[in-house]
Amino acid sequence: MSIAKLARRVVRALTPYQSARRIGGNGHVWLNANEAPRATPFSVESSKFNRYPECQPTQVVDGYAAYAGVNADQVLVSRGADEAIELLIRTFCEAGEDQILICPPTYGMYAISAETCGVGIVEQPLTADRQPDWPAIRDALSEVKLVFLCSPNNPTGDLVGRDGLIALLEAARDRAIVVVDEAYIEFCPAASVVDLLARFPNLVVTRTLSKAFALAGIRCGFTLATPEVIALLAKVIAPYPIADPVAQIAAQALTPVGLALMQERVLELNAQKAALKSTLIELPCVREIFEDKGNFILVRFVDGARVFAAMKAAGIILRDFSTKPGLGDSIRITVGYQDEMDAVLDILRGLSVDGISADSLTAQKGSAGKTPTGTAPASRL
Ligand SMILES: *Cc1c(COP(=O)(O)O)cnc(C)c1O
Repeated sequence: MSIAKLARRVVRALTPYQSARRIGGNGHVWLNANEAPRATPFSVESSKFNRYPECQPTQVVDGYAAYAGVNADQVLVSRGADEAIELLIRTFCEAGEDQILICPPTYGMYAISAETCGVGIVEQPLTADRQPDWPAIRDALSEVKLVFLCSPNNPTGDLVGRDGLIALLEAARDRAIVVVDEAYIEFCPAASVVDLLARFPNLVVTRTLSKAFALAGIRCGFTLATPEVIALLAKVIAPYPIADPVAQIAAQALTPVGLALMQERVLELNAQKAALKSTLIELPCVREIFEDKGNFILVRFVDGARVFAAMKAAGIILRDFSTKPGLGDSIRITVGYQDEMDAVLDILRGLSVDGISADSLTAQKGSAGKTPTGTAPASRL
């Protein structure tokens, strides 16, 4: 008998998450995982490494609560936002019985975590203007325990409309929890929905230090919710989820100095993003540019496979979304610093002069051509 037969049915059937790090390959310009382009130096102190760490390191909890504008009992620290997603599913969904709702195309881990937990998935694709399909989600509320929304959405970069969210939270009161994943919210802080936590006990917001804070390598994320929800999650989380060096570094990142560094980085990257976008709009090989609220831009090219291959050959690793529904020829580019953006644009300019352009494609297909504001030609994503 093969050992694999002993594994749970869902595990045998599972396709694991294709993380950027797993599928990366060889490159010297890494723009496929929405990481920050450079690390900030931190130092750790080892005198307590013989002891188990605090389950919820006080300095980190207090620091994040102050930064996010909530009370300490509304914060849970976890091993990245990914652990928060799984904890929510394990805490609220009965295996083999309950379901979550997702709005594809969106972040892949909601579905993967549900699958590994034996929890069903209801899909309500984004509408043509890439918003959650509010009426369809409301109709599905009796079938689901958790609704996962992502704002800014990875990979499309759109924000979730606030009015629609509020109406959903009202409709879902006492019925379902609405999770808003704000992994990229530092790039557009005014769009946060954390203020709604005071009005809606069924709202949960997830955050991370992996993106704007440039700390993907330490694995540190947060759940913000009512004290009641936090207490439930705290029953399920492992006894020592946050390694002491992680807690030390996170605490430093959340000091006023650490926060100022993060905000500087955001300003710089947002400026790079604006420059990249204005150049992309001019290039004939570009067909459509999606929303840009995160630290990445999803671009629909005239020939996505050709762009991806040319980048790869030049050692520039991007993330291909062309196989996702409604995202044919689309590639996500993480915003980096000037040298990295120049490397990307050099390749694209090279591709743009040698024939295939949106104009020639438009002539062939009679399609609408480039839509820089991000109005998707596909009817549904
Ligand atoms: C990167 C990302 C995460 C994962 O964050 P970690 O803290 O690194 O686990 C969660 N949600 C979205 C939308 C992301 O893009």
